[in-house]
Amino acid sequence: MEFATFADHCVTIEEESADLEITALLADLCVAAGSEDGRDSDRDLECVVRFVQGRVFPAWDARKLDIGPRTCYEAIARAAGPNVDADAVEREVAEVGEVGTVAAGYEFGGQQGLGAFGVGGGHESHTVGAVFDTLERLAHTDGDGSHDTKVDLLFSLFNRASPTEARYLARLVLGEMRIGVGEGTVRDAIAAAFSVPVETVERAVQVTNDYGHVAVVAHEDGSDGLEGLSLEVGRPVQAMLAQAGTVTDALEAWDRVAVEWKFDGARVQVHHVPGELTLVFSRNMEDVTDALPEVVETVESTLECPAILDGEVVAVDDDGSPLAFQEVLRRFRRKHDVEKAREAVTVRPVFFDCLHADGEDLLETPLETRHDRMEAVLGGSTGEYSDVSTGEQPNWDEADAATTSHACGQLWLTDDPDRIEAIDARALEAGHEGIMLKDPTSTYTPGRRGQHWLKRKPDVDTLDCVVTGAEWGEGRRATYLGTFVISVTDGDDYLPIGKVATGITDETLVELTELLEPHIVAEDGKTVDIEPAVVFEVGYEEIQPSPTYESGFALRFPRFVSVRSDTDLEGVDSLERVKRLHDR
Ligand code: AMP
Repeated sequence: MEFATFADHCVTIEEESADLEITALLADLCVAAGSEDGRDSDRDLECVVRFVQGRVFPAWDARKLDIGPRTCYEAIARAAGPNVDADAVEREVAEVGEVGTVAAGYEFGGQQGLGAFGVGGGHESHTVGAVFDTLERLAHTDGDGSHDTKVDLLFSLFNRASPTEARYLARLVLGEMRIGVGEGTVRDAIAAAFSVPVETVERAVQVTNDYGHVAVVAHEDGSDGLEGLSLEVGRPVQAMLAQAGTVTDALEAWDRVAVEWKFDGARVQVHHVPGELTLVFSRNMEDVTDALPEVVETVESTLECPAILDGEVVAVDDDGSPLAFQEVLRRFRRKHDVEKAREAVTVRPVFFDCLHADGEDLLETPLETRHDRMEAVLGGSTGEYSDVSTGEQPNWDEADAATTSHACGQLWLTDDPDRIEAIDARALEAGHEGIMLKDPTSTYTPGRRGQHWLKRKPDVDTLDCVVTGAEWGEGRRATYLGTFVISVTDGDDYLPIGKVATGITDETLVELTELLEPHIVAEDGKTVDIEPAVVFEVGYEEIQPSPTYESGFALRFPRFVSVRSDTDLEGVDSLERVKRLHDR
């Protein structure tokens, strides 16, 4: 496919605003690219599907274009002729707001019919494949003089470009197409173009991490071909992500909760084939193997079969206790003096998931089973989840970096909120960030921030607040007080600072209702006023100034921690303290 044809399609897509239409237009482009005669249509299709997303290489690929705006402006300026320099291009981009429009505004060498500006002048358009080849060469350009070579290569592209081609070429080179095409659109367009189910395309993308390849397989072999795609050890996939949530959320959503410690470090995905390869990737799928020799050593000394593991790399002190997250960053992307850096900061991996073990992909396998498999491939640590009483991570403290039980994160299965609190308390005590709450039946969904993994972060602080009001609950909770107005003291007054409704189990609601009901002094519909008598310890994430409450402040994410039976009203925190905490 000619790059000019691709650019024309981009114009049509960019001018369209309706999502469904954009998907249909993109599907047309896929069909067109995949059915060009006499050329390498698979390659065209592969490129086109990446190009519309502003990508040259697949997401997993370590190759990066790495072209700064300035390099691009220099190439544009050179193609635009002797009266234009890079500063002028830069000024225009600042004025107009984006490079495509600026690039399209110049008459380039080829267009002027001069063809005399050095490399590659002339009228003939590039093909999509030729643009890819040039950009690929550019990605491989390294070392002394590489800047000039890069400008030369880009110039060779711009010099022949029509204004429309230049618009999309400049945007592609800088990785931002601005034609309103996101990953979901590409997925839907591939499905529409080659009559395959959207879910099949989605899964294929998850395992291959390469829309271009998925489009080609959909085109050539349809659904069957896509279903045959699998993970490949050595090719990173996107990490599954978590969202914030509470213990109550987890207990309401699932029969049992898988509780894990939340390690405060950097995410790693490890790919290992014994005797062949060990690769460590960051959350953005960057290859960070060389920076983390400890991870490689642990993996090589423990894994005896091919595997893909998901985990966190944590900085530790001499006793093996975790250090702050910033310490990991001193090691994470380091390219030089790794050994020296290693002397200053030691890191160790702790794995919490297993995507592939011994020839078997586990993405569709429930978390509980994946965790079993992980323990097995890591040489079997405790192998059981019954140790919920202590919330202890075996051997963390005494662990030698290479011991298996250490590298294998513990998972506890429970439906008991008190147990979860105990595990949380133990995690914090051991210096970790808190806990993760996961659905033990859930599959592994790369790249998704789903409901199946909840991160519960520790509160910044707690306040002792007195309950001055409440609301009756709804549905099955209609006979319990559910939402509590909490207040702090200001002289003899009690001023509200927020409402707590989260972090409270049904059982506790019953107890709290019994405790508070005798103190109800007024009732209006669902709302009740309560005389100050019962003190709650309340966790929160932040104190914000707020017009909503009389105290002038509001607690962000307030969470019920406990009833303060040891505190009388004298112990209630004051507005004065709230102000101080806020200022701090
Ligand atoms: P956040 O970065 O705050 O969104 O929290 C999610 C991150 O916590 C993940 O991307 C991991 O890097 C990290 N993490 C630490 N421990 C765990 C765990 N047990 N399970 C999942 N993610 C974890």
